[in-house]
Formats: sequence, structure tokens, C-alpha cells
Amino acid sequence: MRLSIGIGRKSGYYSRTLRRLRLFQMTTTPQDLNDRGLKATLPRLRIIRLFENSRNCHMTAEDVYRCLKEDDLDIGLATIYRVLTQFEQAGLLLRHHFESDKAVYEINRGHHHDHIVCLHCGKVEEFFDAEIEKRQNEIAQGKNFEVVDHALCLYGYCATGDCVERRRAEAEENNDIG
Ligand SMILES: [Zn+2]
Ligand SMILES: [Zn+2]
Repeated sequence: MRLSIGIGRKSGYYSRTLRRLRLFQMTTTPQDLNDRGLKATLPRLRIIRLFENSRNCHMTAEDVYRCLKEDDLDIGLATIYRVLTQFEQAGLLLRHHFESDKAVYEINRGHHHDHIVCLHCGKVEEFFDAEIEKRQNEIAQGKNFEVVDHALCLYGYCATGDCVERRRAEAEENNDIG
């Protein structure tokens, strides 16, 4: 059995490039799970596939629960927590603790990036800036450190239509109460 990935465009250079990339970054097979000492159970396969296929690639356990439920798969939250922890320990997922107390997970594609998070709706965007990376290393060197890892996260408010509207409505509501 091989898991499929949910990308629509199938022809031309794009898909050829994608196929090549997929070899080392996309589809996790049942064998991949076995190789990491994890039996390829339905919950595990569905959860890893969700991360691989989802547009929203940064998800909490609750997000995972909701998405699977929408797909008519009722996996308990306790199981989801356990699987996410196993996947993180196996190096398949990365875990972040952004501004909230809830852990956010994403597929570990093996390439470094930083994040910007909306404090209101939780939207997460990724970025990579060579200049920032370089400056961080220079600063560390200046302090006699050798950097082995770093996490940079910017916090703010996104300008997505929904989020701005909701923020405004909530502010007005609060003003009424106050
Ligand atoms: Zn937002
Ligand atoms: Zn990310």
C-alpha cells in the first residue's frame, strides 16, 4: 500500500520535480513507519497523511481531531496526542510551542524555516531569510557560541479579511461591556 498525496497538478515539469522531491520529503509509507519501530495502524497512517496533504500544515492535536472527524474518522484525542508524540520522537514531525500553551506540529521536511504567528486567529506563516540566518550566526560567534539550533518566531496580527473583521467585532463588543 502506498499513500497518495493530494496535489492536483499532474503534468509537466512541476510534477516531475515534485516526484523527485517526494522521494525524500513527502509521502510516508507504512514501511517508513515500520522502519521507525511504529506499526502502520490506521490512526497513524491517517494522521501522517493529514499533515502531508493539508493546506494548513501547522496543526494542534485538536486541529487534527477536527480534520479527521470531518473525514468521518473518529479517533480519540488521547490517541492523537500519543501518536503525535510518537511521530515527534521518531523525527517525522516537529513540535513548536508558539505563544499558546498548545503544541503545534508540522511535518519534518528537514529544512530550516522560521515562523510568524497571528496572536488572534493562530494563523502560521513560514519564512526563511538568509540575511537573518547569517546575522544570528554572527551574533552567536561574537559571544563565543557555536549555534546548533534556533527558533525564531514573530508574533503579530494577520491582515486576513476574516481575522481583521472578527478582531474589530470583538473589540467593539468589549467596549460595549466596558
Ligand atoms: Zn489572524
Ligand atoms: Zn513551519
